[in-house]
Amino acid sequence: MANAEWIEKSKASFMNTYGRYPAVMVEGRGCLLKDADGREYLDCLAGIAVCSLGHCHPAITEAICRQASTLVHVSNLYHTIPQTELAELLINHSFADRVFLANSGAEANEAAIKLARKASPDGKYEIISLAGSFHGRTLATVAATGQSKFQQGFAPMPQGFRHAPFDDIAALEAMIAPETCAILCEPLQGEGGVLPLAPEYLAAIRQLCDRHGLLLIFDEIQVGMGRTGTLFAYEQCGVTPDILTLAKALGNGLPIGAMLARESVAKAFEPGSHASTFGGNPVACAAAVTVLRLMLAEGFLAEVRAKGNYLAERLTGLADKYPAIASPARGLGLIQGLPLTETWLDKGPDIVNRLFAKGVLLNFAGGKALRCLPPLIISRAEINQLIQALDEVFAELSQ
Ligand SMILES: *Cc1c(COP(=O)(O)O)cnc(C)c1O
Repeated sequence: MANAEWIEKSKASFMNTYGRYPAVMVEGRGCLLKDADGREYLDCLAGIAVCSLGHCHPAITEAICRQASTLVHVSNLYHTIPQTELAELLINHSFADRVFLANSGAEANEAAIKLARKASPDGKYEIISLAGSFHGRTLATVAATGQSKFQQGFAPMPQGFRHAPFDDIAALEAMIAPETCAILCEPLQGEGGVLPLAPEYLAAIRQLCDRHGLLLIFDEIQVGMGRTGTLFAYEQCGVTPDILTLAKALGNGLPIGAMLARESVAKAFEPGSHASTFGGNPVACAAAVTVLRLMLAEGFLAEVRAKGNYLAERLTGLADKYPAIASPARGLGLIQGLPLTETWLDKGPDIVNRLFAKGVLLNFAGGKALRCLPPLIISRAEINQLIQALDEVFAELSQ
């Protein structure tokens, strides 16, 4: 069967939660995807920052197959080797002393919210997050998300979440109340439109937390795991959180999330405090262990930084050429955004559709910026291909 028939079946079967592009993806290798009609695409989204080592990386596929033929699931009533190896790797390469494994980003954030409340004295419960943020789609994480469109229709929201205006440290401090226990933020807002938080802003948030006895939670679900050119984004801003959440690229496509914390915070959890049936699944963990080993190999992250600079430079070249683009590319490493000018914002989806028709996958984040999230293994030649396609689309639309 080709694209059209599968799409018809798919549309008849699923709840209407996704607006999808007209392609049924059947195969992936590296930065390339192939659909059921045999069309090829240059994937500059990587399954939304998930397949960072490319589609079907041979070493990860091998680890998955090996683990799948050895042990697939036993629950967390027993120890397993892959999840212990993964936890050790995460601890050895971060500030954290302890790990909790979940199955998705939203679940990792749920765990972080629960830990922050449990670790806070005197029943403090409130979490302040930032306008424009995205933290997931479960009720608590949607309440933490600082974009009202994700909350519409789902009232009442769980209590204990408030949103501070973006980049306004005085307003944030003014919101801290006796019941506040933590500040939650992404070091770089991904879904919000590829918006990095300035290092001084992050440092000021850290100081607020220290001064008021609050925990600092970084949601690095999108920007962790090498995306910004260091294993974790916090390494670059010089600010260390108390709790860190990861998911997207951790399993290179297998569903897995992680919540990391310092011992002084983590010790609030005891047996029974929190759990997950599937969390730390051996197959997902075997994939994640391989992901970490590949990302930590000599030269890998330096190459991500170099290619990130190259991509930013080439995107900024387009920004100089087309008035439709509001400013130089913004981002860190291989998450880069091209913000559109006010009058061009409604053309964002059209730009993405035209790129799709040319066989290049990108998206439009937060109604603000075209977002590039290519696999970290993308080549300079493939970056050139992306730039060429963007150049053609902006030329067509600027006529
Ligand atoms: C994707 C994302 C989430 C939610 O992850 P899911 O795996 O979809 O639940 C949370 N926070 C950020 C920053 C994300 O980018």
